[in-house]
Amino acid sequence: MFALDDLAKLFELTIREDALAGGLTITAKNQSIVLTPGQSLASVGGRLISLPAPPARDGRSWFVPVDFLSRALAPSLGTRVEVRKPSRLVLVGDVRVPRVTGTVEVIGPIARVTLDVAPPTPHAVAAEGNRLVIKFEAEGLDATLPPAASPELLQAIHTGDAASVVVDLGPRFGSYRTSDQPGERGAGRIVLDVIAQASITTPPPTPTPAPGTPAPPPTEPPLPDLVPSTGIRTIVVDAGHGGEEEGAKGPVGTLEKTVTLSVARRLKAALEARLGVRVILTREADTTVGLDERAALANNNKADLFLSLHANASVRNSAVGAEVFYLSLEEYGDQAQRVAKGETESLPVFGGGARDIEIILWEMAQARYIEQSAALAQAVEGALRERVPMSPRAIQQAPFRVLVGANMPAVLVEMGFITNPDQERQLSSEAFQSSVVQALVDSVVRYRDRQPAPRVPAAAAAGPSRAGGVQP
Ligand SMILES: [Zn+2]
Repeated sequence: MFALDDLAKLFELTIREDALAGGLTITAKNQSIVLTPGQSLASVGGRLISLPAPPARDGRSWFVPVDFLSRALAPSLGTRVEVRKPSRLVLVGDVRVPRVTGTVEVIGPIARVTLDVAPPTPHAVAAEGNRLVIKFEAEGLDATLPPAASPELLQAIHTGDAASVVVDLGPRFGSYRTSDQPGERGAGRIVLDVIAQASITTPPPTPTPAPGTPAPPPTEPPLPDLVPSTGIRTIVVDAGHGGEEEGAKGPVGTLEKTVTLSVARRLKAALEARLGVRVILTREADTTVGLDERAALANNNKADLFLSLHANASVRNSAVGAEVFYLSLEEYGDQAQRVAKGETESLPVFGGGARDIEIILWEMAQARYIEQSAALAQAVEGALRERVPMSPRAIQQAPFRVLVGANMPAVLVEMGFITNPDQERQLSSEAFQSSVVQALVDSVVRYRDRQPAPRVPAAAAAGPSRAGGVQP
């Protein structure tokens, strides 16, 4: 927790304690935040937000949960506030300080430096004298770098000026190359191979291809798990929300995150039993998982389909019925639309100049699968219609963030309106959940039978994630 007095100094807040009502009124830039002891709900400019814990008093000081910064203070100040608990950083405003975690591995004549960058951040690699400089478009780096592993080739790795990582080269240095790949949990990954002189004539092995990459170079025998799949072998089922993100809430308090997890677990069991496919859940319990992380999990596991489960909310409590969404590209610019139409094979290059670097925008990933996602959405809608009530707008396109980075056909299913009292009851009932599960299994079968073999794109997605998109 943070002491309110400390925050008051940092952010120029005034704090007024109302002894009679027992409340705390905090004024930040003319906006009022009202906290009530014993309550984890706070009012921010009249809007209610929830905190993980109520404010606590210790002697004369008040303490608020760390998330108070991002949930209450940030909206009233109108700035972004990011709290990084492990590195003890509080980022205020639009500063970019990516976390960079490095490893070095020596493979024959190559020293391979792998940098995991979260969030993915545009960067450029350049040779400057006897060093390689990876410059990030950021205000700073939160870097953990390894000791050098091969002094003849690579003498040291350290941070340099202006958000850069510097690789000091040894006397055997001959050439280098870089590739960008999706990292784990939504991060970007830069693989930098520092190649010794003697190896120039024999091409070194290529970095591990990113998920979805069609085939390894002809000089190497194809790896079995990189051969394009025919049919559907792996499905990622995304239980919407979770942990701190409760999602929508029904009139008697049913939470969307609980419904989605329950259906996801049933769906996993049914898909595995009936289709013999591998099913991975984006969360197995009531945990908080980022939207990009969910797509990254699917990408890293080379999933063939991505199904995201949600329950809808409406201010009209009469709103009823399931809706199926696939990604709308409108929010994602011309480039994404050209990729979707297959008009461009070469993908945008970031950082300019360095042609070795080719980062594919995170939002390009789904663009290549829009047609297949539309077909999947149709199959899902058709199968749901046979078993559960449908909304008048049963298939829609929307810029849902969770779908953007998915490098495979992906749909988002709003199973019903949790804000409708009847549907709230249904959504938490075993019978309704089973109907949804049956429908989704049927739709996967129908989709699979209509699609002889999934198209595999020329390159997988990686690279910077642009803020944006809608969270369902
Ligand atoms: Zn949702």
